[in-house]
Amino acid sequence: MFDFKLCQVYFRDHFVPFAEASVSIANVAFLYGMGAFTGIRAHYNAADDQLYLFRPQDHFKRFRNACKLCMFNQFVQNYSSDRFVQVVVDLLKKNQIKQDAYLRVSAFVDEESIGVQWNGYKDSLAIFAFPLGDYIPTTGMKCKVSSWRRVDDNAIPARGKINGAYANTAFAKTEAVLAGYDEALVMDHNGHVVEGSAENFFIVRDGVLITPPVSDNILEGITRSTLLQVAKDAGIPTQERSIDRTELVYADEVILTGTGARVSPVTQVDHYTIGDGKVGPMATQLQKLYSDIVYGKIPQYKDWVTPVY
Ligand code: PMP
Repeated sequence: MFDFKLCQVYFRDHFVPFAEASVSIANVAFLYGMGAFTGIRAHYNAADDQLYLFRPQDHFKRFRNACKLCMFNQFVQNYSSDRFVQVVVDLLKKNQIKQDAYLRVSAFVDEESIGVQWNGYKDSLAIFAFPLGDYIPTTGMKCKVSSWRRVDDNAIPARGKINGAYANTAFAKTEAVLAGYDEALVMDHNGHVVEGSAENFFIVRDGVLITPPVSDNILEGITRSTLLQVAKDAGIPTQERSIDRTELVYADEVILTGTGARVSPVTQVDHYTIGDGKVGPMATQLQKLYSDIVYGKIPQYKDWVTPVY
């Protein structure tokens, strides 16, 4: 395990020691959560002696759109996909990281002010890496349907992965954990189940892998799109449609996905057992495929991994 606080980080367009990368208490992003972020994983394959970044170009694409939404013009104008990926690669190389790592990439309003607006501010980029195993359990979770609703696209768009929106996530997660559950399932204002606290959400019914559409107030998850593609390639029927709360009870399997969460099966929702209460066959198959893909073991999906060394 590397000590991330001893690492070099990327801050305001330069590599600096972790301890030097900090912002003022009058910083707008600190005061109001006015930043956008993404989280990228790198996986170390010992047999290849290689560290693979998973879909960094797709993270860039989503992150750049969020930066456009937040009017982060410095990032939008100065960072191409190639430059962005090179910075991430350089950061891992500089720190000689050869183990599984998670990179937190943030763009934020980098000014001291109490004015609440997106336009007219300078923005900066910050990236650091830290070691991360399972973010949530991957062997069958107990989830609680949250009494907190997901923020609407017309309030704080989940699609934007905006820092301040994660106060909403924290309410849902806290309620679930304090009630003895591992994770929350969150409904949107229409009463459809849309996500976990920080994961996309799938159910399996009669062999069909079903997930809410991107227009249901969700993050356009990279893991979500990976699973949809991989399932299609494996001949598994998929559907993108809204999911009712009662379908949680009718589902054969429930699965949460994310860069942190990877593929995390749910075996209990509130007081209902999902399927037979064990990790189901679809989750098991997708977990294995996903793991093989991110460690660069499947030639068909090599385009999704970028070698660092
Ligand atoms: N939804 C939310 C709200 C999230 O925070 C995350 C984690 N980034 C996800 C879904 C999963 O997205 P991804 O697969 O791109 O990590």
